[in-house]
Amino acid sequence: MHVRAVFPGSFDPVHFGHMDIARRAARLFDELVVAVYANPQKNLLFTTEERLALLREAMADVSNITVASYTGLTINFAKSIGAKVMVRGLRVFSDFDNEFRMALANQELDKNIETIALITDHRYTFISSSTVKEIVTLGGEVTAMLPPFVETAIRQKIHEHDGTGPAVRKQSGL
Ligand code: ADP
Repeated sequence: MHVRAVFPGSFDPVHFGHMDIARRAARLFDELVVAVYANPQKNLLFTTEERLALLREAMADVSNITVASYTGLTINFAKSIGAKVMVRGLRVFSDFDNEFRMALANQELDKNIETIALITDHRYTFISSSTVKEIVTLGGEVTAMLPPFVETAIRQKIHEHDGTGPAVRKQSGL
């Protein structure tokens, strides 16, 4: 049986934590679709097209990973592409609470699609898209958190926003 899995998220932007989960999931399933949620209720720094382009570049060397975007319910997107599994990543205990509730809600919506959560690599526990955006904005070192081309893209965006755009405002208290 050919098993297609979907790894959904905002990916604003992609970082090593996401890339590690995607790579590991791609080893477990025949095919992995990394799915960019186009309109999350979040302040976004990057457009959907930009998030897709960064992900494509980040995942280019893994042959069974494709990248797509979607709107609406993730479970509906998963169903529409024939995915049997939704992959999520867990960093800390507080992630679990949220992921657990989402997985239960998704079970209610469609029992045929399983949620599978992979535990982060310990090197990436502290990485989130908002943290990396904030560190880059404040001129910190992010070499261990994301590929150089993503850092360049963040710098360009910050320059466009002149450092004052809502998406690059202080979010995590660094
Ligand atoms: P969302 O907007 O759905 O929270 P994100 O783009 O922040 O999406 O993350 C997408 C997925 O990647 C989520 O399952 C999230 O838990 C996981 N993830 C984010 N950062 C990391 C990390 N550092 N290590 C492992 N998984 C992560």
